[in-house]
Amino acid sequence: MSDNTTIPALAPQPFPLREVTPWAIFGLIIGLIALYFIGLEQGALALFEGATIHEFVHDARHLLGFPCH
Ligand SMILES: [Zn+2]
Repeated sequence: MSDNTTIPALAPQPFPLREVTPWAIFGLIIGLIALYFIGLEQGALALFEGATIHEFVHDARHLLGFPCH
């Protein structure tokens, strides 16, 4: 007695570019905002007064190798 099982052949599915594109753009915008706050929100480029945002992302800045102090 044999218990042969067959694995159904998986047909390649087309990439759903129309469904993925808005999420990719959203992720890109969120990533650019995070990159700005982590890497550039300091000194002359700062959009906000004070050092609160800089201190909040300070460890991430050093972790990613951005120059700081
Ligand atoms: Zn620092």
